[in-house]
Amino acid sequence: MNEIRVVPLACSRCGADLLGRSVDRLAFCIPCGAAYRVDTPTIEAIRVVTIEDDPTSEGSLLHLPFWKIDDLLVPAFISPRPLTLARIASSISETRSTHEMMKSPVPLGARLAPENLAPIVGMLKNRAVENDEAQRSGSGLLFSIPARAQDRRFRLPGTDFALYPQDVIDSDGLLRFSRDGVGVGT
Ligand SMILES: [Zn+2]
Repeated sequence: MNEIRVVPLACSRCGADLLGRSVDRLAFCIPCGAAYRVDTPTIEAIRVVTIEDDPTSEGSLLHLPFWKIDDLLVPAFISPRPLTLARIASSISETRSTHEMMKSPVPLGARLAPENLAPIVGMLKNRAVENDEAQRSGSGLLFSIPARAQDRRFRLPGTDFALYPQDVIDSDGLLRFSRDGVGVGT
């Protein structure tokens, strides 16, 4: 069920077929680098901002998707440690350069929508957050963070923090697809 599929929709920018995993909420236009939410009644274009990788980093590259909700980056992938990952990602985004574009490989694995993340945002902000508030502030902007597989860990740029494979549900599958070249311009 984790197969890459052609979503029966065309990119509104260039007309190419969209690609995505059947379990994910996002689909991507490989030729032009556009990204869309495809779990909504009508597909919605979203902006993708990519955090710069360390120039010297090695290991297989994965881009992990995070929703930008207010001033926070919250994992769009399923993880047993969403609070920790949100804190790390939010601090990375404050110190690293960013690119206003999607980079290869595309950020697969987005299985959560911003409106699913209201409880997590509430815990991070230490106040009640309603689903529609999380949806309003998080529906249009995805951050893509490069993670490098090294020594059975995922290293993130600009930090000593490392994710375990089990921090990212289906990380083996995501790595496999990323290695197979599901990337912009490939
Ligand atoms: Zn396109």
